[in-house]
Amino acid sequence: MSDKTIFEMIIDREIPADIVYEDDICICFHDIAPQAPTHLLVVPKKRIVRIADASIEDQATLGHLLLTAQKVAQQEGISESGFRTVINNGKDGGEAVPHLHLHILAGRQMLWPPG
Ligand code: 5GP
Repeated sequence: MSDKTIFEMIIDREIPADIVYEDDICICFHDIAPQAPTHLLVVPKKRIVRIADASIEDQATLGHLLLTAQKVAQQEGISESGFRTVINNGKDGGEAVPHLHLHILAGRQMLWPPG
């Protein structure tokens, strides 16, 4: 696996981020280039590169990311109005950072289909 990703640097406090939630398994912080009034990233501390590379040992971690999205959405007051979760996978999926992350987008009407 290649060098540390930007998200591992955030996890290790080597670069700053606006962190809103953290536990033993994941961390959640504001995206540096928000695509909606609220744009958060939920990132597992274990570096799973992308969904396509996840394995059965990652099952609990993957479930934890979704339940963390639920928890953070309540914490940030976006649960009732609604929010979108997105995981980009690979080149055509629009993935830029090769460390699995769940986007949480909220605060405006989301469109379908996504771009
Ligand atoms: P992807 O396209 O891989 O699904 O999403 C990567 C996301 O990471 C992008 O939305 C991008 O704005 C965000 N991002 C990239 N570098 C940083 C950073 O240094 N700090 C934060 N907070 N977000 C970042």
